[in-house]
Amino acid sequence: MDMEIESCEPIDMEESTPNPAHREPPSIRRLDEAVVNRIAAGEVIQRPVSAVKELIENSIDAGSTSISVLVKDGGLKLIQVSDDGHGIRYEDLPILCERHTTSKLSKFEDLLSIKSMGFRGEALASMTYVGHVTVTTITKGQLHGYRATYKDGVMENEPKACAAVKGTQIMIENLFYNMAARRKSLQNSADDYPKIVDLICRFAIHHTNVNFSCRKHGAARADVNSVATSSRLDAIRSVYGVSVAQNLLSIEASDDDPSNSVFEMDGFISNSNYAAKKITMVLFINDRLVECGALKRAIEIIYAATLPKASKPFIYMSIKLPPEHIDVNVHPTKREVSLLNQEVIIEKIQSVLESKLRNSNESRTFQEQRVDSSSVSISMSKDSQNHRSSSGLKSQKVPVRKMVRTDSQDPAGRLHAYLQVKPSSQLQGTSSLASVRSSIRQRRNPRETADLTSIQELTREIDSSCHSELLDIVGNCSYIGMADDVFALLQHNTHLYLANVVNLSKELMYQQVLRRFAHFSAIQLSDPAPLPDLIMLALKEQDLDSEGNENDDLKEKIAEMNTELIKQRAEMLEEYFGIYVDQNGNLSRLPIVLDQYTPDMDRVPELILCLGNDVNWDDEKICFQTIAAAIGNFYAFNPPLLPNPSGDGLQFYKKVPSTTSEDGNASGSADDSKEEEIEQELLSEAESAWSQREWSIQHVLFPSMRLFLKPPTSMATNGTFVKVASLEKLYKIFERC
Ligand code: ADP
Ligand code: MG
Repeated sequence: MDMEIESCEPIDMEESTPNPAHREPPSIRRLDEAVVNRIAAGEVIQRPVSAVKELIENSIDAGSTSISVLVKDGGLKLIQVSDDGHGIRYEDLPILCERHTTSKLSKFEDLLSIKSMGFRGEALASMTYVGHVTVTTITKGQLHGYRATYKDGVMENEPKACAAVKGTQIMIENLFYNMAARRKSLQNSADDYPKIVDLICRFAIHHTNVNFSCRKHGAARADVNSVATSSRLDAIRSVYGVSVAQNLLSIEASDDDPSNSVFEMDGFISNSNYAAKKITMVLFINDRLVECGALKRAIEIIYAATLPKASKPFIYMSIKLPPEHIDVNVHPTKREVSLLNQEVIIEKIQSVLESKLRNSNESRTFQEQRVDSSSVSISMSKDSQNHRSSSGLKSQKVPVRKMVRTDSQDPAGRLHAYLQVKPSSQLQGTSSLASVRSSIRQRRNPRETADLTSIQELTREIDSSCHSELLDIVGNCSYIGMADDVFALLQHNTHLYLANVVNLSKELMYQQVLRRFAHFSAIQLSDPAPLPDLIMLALKEQDLDSEGNENDDLKEKIAEMNTELIKQRAEMLEEYFGIYVDQNGNLSRLPIVLDQYTPDMDRVPELILCLGNDVNWDDEKICFQTIAAAIGNFYAFNPPLLPNPSGDGLQFYKKVPSTTSEDGNASGSADDSKEEEIEQELLSEAESAWSQREWSIQHVLFPSMRLFLKPPTSMATNGTFVKVASLEKLYKIFERC
């Protein structure tokens, strides 16, 4: 970022002459070649860190396995890069620092890739225009090396024979000595040393076969000291630390369809446990360290949408592309690139990341438990080396400490693993990128909406009635599975709880409605639904439930009145709650209260009836409260209307068709096979509704509650939470047996 500021600096100012508009036009002169070169050089070498980058790249190109960097005064006094590469031939030394001299272009085909990186053969030359350059080098089989100094592209004296160890050492002293303004502005700004360290860390995790070190002049210890290793993860661990390395997931993506995109990508991305103040994105394209703003933003979006708590990720990514597909379009030192088919590539990478992040937590516990379902799970990094050996806990005695599901951030459903393995991929696949993007927009909504005092009061009430112990349980529990249609089994420390999912979700949704007040995204109904029809449906449903039997005329009257009432309030409902009813009384839009979750549309009639019947429209605060509660009820994770087919509910689907036929139609027996089929359809509809719900409870509801729910005090006593067991006690009992 500093580089951007730097590039705006009028670097040729120190050479320019004043040009007052009112005098005669000044004569145009040809600039001194040295001045021209210096200006050009200042573009290539913008600041000390850009010189270090060029030098390291040269050392890597020379096949080095060890590169050490020494820096004095942020690089302004001294930058010295020593390597053990192939060295520079004696005959080449005279032209080494001339512009456009390079050893890296040998055949015509190379031109493409050379072109793609741009500015070949300019780095060393540039350094000689803005600093004092000394090169010491020795090639294989020589008894001694040579040293030469350079100024303005020219070798200043015959190379001197000198003692040397394998490779090349390039030293730049007094960088920008002849660019007063540049030097001054660099001296005033923060020292480049941290940038240099950061740069070397990046190189070190990509070029894992090279030892890197970086030291400040006069310091006893190096600030980076990476040791060549065969494992990228080890390299990351040694450079960025264990806390980063243990929270990484490996990623891969590729495409080989010339009409679409051609690329290979692999890397590591941080998981939900990784927390940092800012994003670290280390990107290599064709082994060159580059930046790609579009890709970076795309990744940030995925994180903010899927792991809002860990939305400043660590990313290491290496992308390989046909060289002609890269366009270095900004600046040689900044290396901001754009790619051919960038959109396609980015979308592909986004979707790989998204599914990786979504699946990561679940898959790692899932795997472990499948190995041995009778053991107690201990969460651990999927990438951890000792993964396999540690999961065989079967016959071991498990200390209570380990009975705690250590990873509370992990929303995985362990009960699934004990019961059956359901492919959940179709379900997970349903969240498209579009929805991810919209959800990020949602999250970024400022909370200025709450400027209505009534809404402020309601949210304050939520805060003040929040029960701290329950908050801790909700925030740090592990979801184990559904115990029945309504209660989920949770573990918090060594305690097991049953938690009423319907109550919890109702409250969560209520709170969310207030938080999103006036800032809802919309669910568009494919066909607008007439309010009177919806209300009639709801009233009939109520009849079935309560065995009441009001006559249809009365119902129609109620429907008509409620429709009118809602139509009158349509504007407010739309603006504040995202419920859109058109002038003809058709409902066409509903609010999105929780991202990645579509409520049960069978309950829309009930919602509309509630809006008509249960809302107090007279008092602003109570009005908002009751509307929020109605939407909350609608959004709650109620059991689907069809009975659960996996328990006793299966009976429902086995019923003999003729006896269930409500309207007494005698067509049943005439077409048995068809009736059978309908039952099957109903059954599979029910199965999918129930498994969808269970999936959402685990992957949407619990993670969202962890983030957003403030459980009210009433939940501690109204049966929403029930403590069922203490694992310590259970364990003692087992031990005695
Ligand atoms: P480029 O890297 O684009 O070729 P440079 O100006 O950076 O241009 O370097 C010019 C040439 O100097 C390189 O092509 C290479 O042959 C040689 N060179 C520079 N640094 C080293 C080094 N550390 N070891 C060996 N050769 C080097
Ligand atoms: Mg170079």
